[in-house]
Amino acid sequence: FFRPLEKIAAVLETYPRGIAGFRRYLELLETEPEIADSADARPAPALRGQIAFEQVSFGYDLERPVLRDISLEVQAGETVAFVGPSGAGKTTLLALVPRFYEPDGGRITIDGLPLDKMTLDSLRSQIGIVSQDVFLFGSTLRDNIAYGRLGASDDEILAAAAKAQLATLIETLPEGLDTLVGERGVMLSGGQKQRVAIARAFLKNPPILILDEATSALDRETEREIQAALEALAVGRTTLVIAHRLTTIRNADRIVVMENGQMREAGAHHELISQGGLYARLAS
Ligand code: ATP
Repeated sequence: FFRPLEKIAAVLETYPRGIAGFRRYLELLETEPEIADSADARPAPALRGQIAFEQVSFGYDLERPVLRDISLEVQAGETVAFVGPSGAGKTTLLALVPRFYEPDGGRITIDGLPLDKMTLDSLRSQIGIVSQDVFLFGSTLRDNIAYGRLGASDDEILAAAAKAQLATLIETLPEGLDTLVGERGVMLSGGQKQRVAIARAFLKNPPILILDEATSALDRETEREIQAALEALAVGRTTLVIAHRLTTIRNADRIVVMENGQMREAGAHHELISQGGLYARLAS
């Protein structure tokens, strides 16, 4: 069972990765003009998280389509892993869900509601993003975790930190949640930063999660802890993950194989293997 997945990961790893995916998300918020609420947008109700991509196409410029005719229905609570070579369009597709960009053709709905009929605030407040490039303020650990939900109490922050496997770290720091991190404070390791992002997401408690798995190598123990925290975070939420880890691909309800802006295949691991397509070829 594992061997095919190892091969797939090995093949995928041979593709060079471009600029780390979700760093762009944050940059974008700062540099590109905000997509505005449309005149008839209303605050979204509490979403269940059923997401439908209907013949979605998109390009950053007119000459070069990056996504072509993507149709996919994700059930509420489902975990879908997106795999494929660098540049296939995985990051771009998931960036359309919080409406960082607008599709050129087709549409995306959540619980049947078109994205542009919801106010951006009400949409984005129901989507958690855990990326490999975590933005930390030069402030306390408390403030950095509470960024997930401003005004959270210490008890809530500590509970979220525990779920994100940060409890031991906080206990060992003499100043606990008051420890300064970021620019002029304690430097957190890559794995610890990711756990801060996970704690933020636990606090935010959104029905929809977008995960960009780290490609950087972590030691085994950290890797295991982060994987466990992410699995716990995904429970009961619709989770779209750009997957780089074998365990993530293995545990996903469905795998979407993307190539060259198109969705080549979608299905559970065993289904894709028995279909004998691209995924199966990569695995054989
Ligand atoms: P990776 O695994 O390397 O992140 P990916 O499958 O997520 O790849 P995307 O990052 O979505 O692929 O990139 C798809 C295409 O869109 C690539 O050709 C990329 O160069 C281009 N692209 C991505 N972001 C932008 C941007 N902000 N402006 C212009 N082109 C972009």
